[in-house]
Amino acid sequence: MSQPTIQIALIKGDGIGVDVTEASFAVLEAALKKTAGPRLSYNEIRAGAGYFSETGDDIEPRGEEAAGRADAIFLGAIGLPAVRHADGTEISPHLRLRDRFQLYAGVRPVRAYPNTPRRLSDPRAANIDLVILRESTEGLFYSASVHGRSEVIDNREVRDVLRITRHTSEKLHRFGFELARKRKQNGSRGILTCVDKANVFTSMAFFRQIYDETAADFPDIQTDYNYVDAQALDLIRRPWDFDVLVTENMFGDILSDLAGGLVGGMGMAACAEIGDETGLFQPAHGSAPDIMGQDRANPLAAILSGALMLEYLAQKTGEAALLDSAKLIDDVIYQGFAENRIRPAEFGGDMGTLAITRELLSSI
Ligand code: ATP
Repeated sequence: MSQPTIQIALIKGDGIGVDVTEASFAVLEAALKKTAGPRLSYNEIRAGAGYFSETGDDIEPRGEEAAGRADAIFLGAIGLPAVRHADGTEISPHLRLRDRFQLYAGVRPVRAYPNTPRRLSDPRAANIDLVILRESTEGLFYSASVHGRSEVIDNREVRDVLRITRHTSEKLHRFGFELARKRKQNGSRGILTCVDKANVFTSMAFFRQIYDETAADFPDIQTDYNYVDAQALDLIRRPWDFDVLVTENMFGDILSDLAGGLVGGMGMAACAEIGDETGLFQPAHGSAPDIMGQDRANPLAAILSGALMLEYLAQKTGEAALLDSAKLIDDVIYQGFAENRIRPAEFGGDMGTLAITRELLSSI
């Protein structure tokens, strides 16, 4: 019987986005071949700052609709410092994709791999393995300038709204508890920490109230609370104590960069953004113009984001080989670090994008 083909909308974007996307798909295809998984077919969509400077649009005509028709969307990175809108904001079509497809669940794994730089001297830092679940459609980003929702009062005042809805928060917290449950089945502790500022903002007290209501359906998962400022401190003081953190959009944006720094750098920061109908997968880093075109980008964040995409597609399609491929990729990366065969230039090693990709291909 012939295997189904999975449709991927592919937005390579700008700068190192192009290189790390190509690296990621070379590894995904090798893993799928090894596990006799389904084939991927691509619909490449042009978007980003480079495209904007050529055409005046940030995404090709009907690109958003085309992205919505695929089984999943993969994005390299978007943005170039020199290309901006007149008000100084960046070219951000991906924020519109998040909004259009209501990709509320931003999943950002933070894991310490062997032989990667430790920013903390405590030996327990070797055990950091947590996930930041960042709400990705509302919160303070509801007012991101790409949406044109800011209230500009003459030239005297600007108001950006932080929006929390029951509809999205219920789905987000449920996603968080289910994620904690899935991780518990694989040996994690099964704790979901609600990170908020419920002591100051009514919106955040509401966010916590919905967390509590949802918790009632998950008696097997331990509940926990932290204010966002204390959470920033605790991510430095005792990050090994956390399992899954669920939080508002802007808090999640900031904490996930901090947490990414704890386990190396942005080149390890994978990201999935999942909604009810589709998911968008992209490394959490930007286009890194300072190193573009030099074969110095670490492709692992993009490759790990690709593995998250395969996991998502396994759940969406019921194809077990997709999950096997995701696990194979995770395993070869972990083993590659453990045996010192992966030495990214980002961490002072001798391997650029192509060398890391070749190493993973040969391990697979
Ligand atoms: P954005 O606002 O889009 O996130 P940015 O310019 O703030 O973009 P990045 O593009 O993520 O941030 O780059 C931040 C720093 O991290 C840069 O010094 C960059 O070189 C480095 N960096 C980012 N991604 C990688 C990577 N994959 N490999 C190596 N270094 C990276």
